[in-house]
Amino acid sequence: MGRAFVYVVLGGGVAAGYAALEFARRGGYSRGELCIISEEAVAPYERPALSKGYLLPEDPSRLPKFHTCVGANDELLTTKWYKEQGIELVLGTRVISADVRRKTLLTATGETISYKTLIIATGARALKLEEFGISGSDAENICYLRNLEDADKLVNAMSSCSGGNAVVIGGGYIGMECAAALVTNKIKVTMVFPEKHCMGRLFTEKIAEYYESYYTSKGVTFTKGTVLTSFEKDSTGKVTSVILKDGNHLPADMVVVGIGIRANTSLFEGQLLMEKGGIKVNGQMQTSDSSVYAVGDVAAFPIKLFDGDVRRLEHVDSARRTARHAVAAILEPSKTRDVDYLPFFYSRVFTLSWQFYGDNVGEVIHYGDFTSNSPRFGAYWVSKGQITGAFLEGGNRDDYEALSVVVRRKTKASDMSELERQGLAFAIQE
Ligand code: FAD
Ligand code: NDP
Repeated sequence: MGRAFVYVVLGGGVAAGYAALEFARRGGYSRGELCIISEEAVAPYERPALSKGYLLPEDPSRLPKFHTCVGANDELLTTKWYKEQGIELVLGTRVISADVRRKTLLTATGETISYKTLIIATGARALKLEEFGISGSDAENICYLRNLEDADKLVNAMSSCSGGNAVVIGGGYIGMECAAALVTNKIKVTMVFPEKHCMGRLFTEKIAEYYESYYTSKGVTFTKGTVLTSFEKDSTGKVTSVILKDGNHLPADMVVVGIGIRANTSLFEGQLLMEKGGIKVNGQMQTSDSSVYAVGDVAAFPIKLFDGDVRRLEHVDSARRTARHAVAAILEPSKTRDVDYLPFFYSRVFTLSWQFYGDNVGEVIHYGDFTSNSPRFGAYWVSKGQITGAFLEGGNRDDYEALSVVVRRKTKASDMSELERQGLAFAIQE
């Protein structure tokens, strides 16, 4: 049993949705030549909604509202759209093996799907506590958050926990965004993570301090510098408390775990070159096999701005842009230059909202008002006399645009105290 396509997109997440849009805009395929294979049962959607609008207590966002590509203020790609465009959606279908030499994929249902060109967009999976030697994380009130199914489990757990206690494991993106959502749903939250402060890989101590004290004012308790070792459960198998390495027991009506991800590379290990935990690609998003491209969370690609340093980014803007770039490179290789991406991360919690551009390396200075409840503060990272990274909380569209420009231009900034004095004005007047 088998089907043959010219183009196959493997994975049906953010990158797949934006790849489909780019194919449709460029029109470089005929009806029935392009398919998207996804383990998920629904058409590609904007995954960031799952930790934001999806978790709101009132008028939560639900599909079809947040299918791609609304996150980039573009068309809403419903299943009807794919049909109209002649793009086959092979949903609810897991690919269990891939043969790059033969150009075939084998699905869990035993179908062989062949391609001429493959775009790997398999994204990533949430790390499980079991991978850290802690068992029992399959309990009905322990939630991870990567896909719709996880989000529904989280919504159910929240709805039976109002006024109760949640423990959030991990102080990264999932931890911070879910803790905010839980509080908004009137659930008391304790966050537990091993680092000295939240968002340890991006935030400076000073930036983290602001968010931690804001969260504290919303009723969140922080338990830092420790990890959990096990759970206490009742006779039905539900978790009732979390036991920490320092011996403390935290009462828990539900637990949310966000301890990082691993890129879904396993189908291609030993067949394609890997780097930084992902599939290595060149500036055209092409892997070590010329018929195979990789995009989104699974792709490790060269960042021109960082002198070609290869990075694997786990953020939505990168997924959108690398996907569109790969399609451009496939359909019009001679007209498509190497990708020139400016790393961009953001988050929105409560009424707060920040953006970051570039790389957080070098010396850092802070500026602005770190005291207000509607704050406007930021930081620049400077290396070898040039701006390498910029963070801003509470900016407007023009502010963020100005910051992205100074980072992209590697604007000179040799006088750190002058930069500190000028703050945001430095970027705006550039
Ligand atoms: P994904 O969107 O994860 O899609 C991968 C797809 O591949 C899935 O459909 C999966 O089922 C499928 N798949 C994998 N293996 C197989 C297989 N073997 N067979 C068939 N199908 C397979 N980033 C931001 O910048 N800002 C945010 O605010 C933000 N919020 C987020 C909130 C949440 C809850 C999560 C989980 C992530 C968030 N991100 C955010 C990160 C962002 O969503 C990802 O970077 C983005 O989804 C990556 O897109 P992708 O297409 O590479 O992978
Ligand atoms: P992150 O990598 O952001 O954070 C994981 C956190 O868990 C880190 O603080 C990490 O500490 C900590 N941790 C690791 N192991 C343990 C442990 N055993 N016990 C307690 N804490 C631990 O991953 P997330 O899970 O938060 O997010 C998953 C993915 O979703 C990421 O790719 C992220 O980019 C994406 N996402 C992005 C959002 C955004 O951009 N706004 C929003 C939501 C998700 P350490 O650093 O020491 O390992």
